[in-house]
Amino acid sequence: MRLIMLGAPGAGKGTQAKRIADKYTIPHISTGDIFRANIKNETELGMKAKTYMDKGLLVPDDLVVDIVADRLNQRDCDKGFILDGFPRTIPQAKALDEALQVMDITLDYVINVDVPDEAIVKRMAGRRACSVCGATYHLKHNPPKKEDQCDVCHGTLIQRDDDKEETVLKRLTVYHEQTKPLIDYYTKKDELVTVDGTRDIDLVTEEIIRLLGD
Ligand code: ADP
Ligand code: ADP
Ligand code: ZN
Repeated sequence: MRLIMLGAPGAGKGTQAKRIADKYTIPHISTGDIFRANIKNETELGMKAKTYMDKGLLVPDDLVVDIVADRLNQRDCDKGFILDGFPRTIPQAKALDEALQVMDITLDYVINVDVPDEAIVKRMAGRRACSVCGATYHLKHNPPKKEDQCDVCHGTLIQRDDDKEETVLKRLTVYHEQTKPLIDYYTKKDELVTVDGTRDIDLVTEEIIRLLGD
């Protein structure tokens, strides 16, 4: 199964991608997670990416495309993968098409998680992430067992710098301008399926699995 998760920031891409990756035993590849790991390790890539991420802007295409192409060429992607947060621009989608063509593989589905802007802004205020392993929670919709503590690794939960309301609003504008055109792009390729991302987390997962098949 080769999949892409598409959607606005906070639509639930990461939450659903992890569940789908477990269900189909395929690697979950999140470009946001890759950047955050690089920032934590203070790599050159991380330092470059951070200047854009802090402002709610996209990291330039040339910094993203090669990383993903390299990742897709690793052995564990032989049985499939789920890309979360990539592609985010038309040039990235075209670069991905080329990389897949060279690998002689095609995508199965692009899953568009649809959530209106108003719901996103409300939802993002409650997102918390583990400072150690990156697991994501929501104060109301997906609370950790112990306040401020990660269920998985007991790390401290934090609010991401870019989840402050003004940065969220900027990220939404960027989404509409640069990422939303991908809905058209993948509709034309007949690869897009859309799910209603405003429903409960479990119901969204069920809908995705129903669309993909067992
Ligand atoms: P969210 O899941 O909330 O949309 P991500 O964790 O996917 O956020 O991404 C966080 C930030 O990392 C983005 O706002 C952007 O700056 C950067 N980023 C992640 N993926 C990409 C990408 N494919 N292209 C450009 N920038 C990216
Ligand atoms: P994305 O990767 O698209 O940025 P996340 O998966 O991190 O989004 O989800 C954003 C926030 O919303 C997280 O706090 C998550 O727990 C919560 N969330 C995810 N899906 C839902 C849903 N269907 N209903 C309510 N809250 C959700
Ligand atoms: Zn953790």
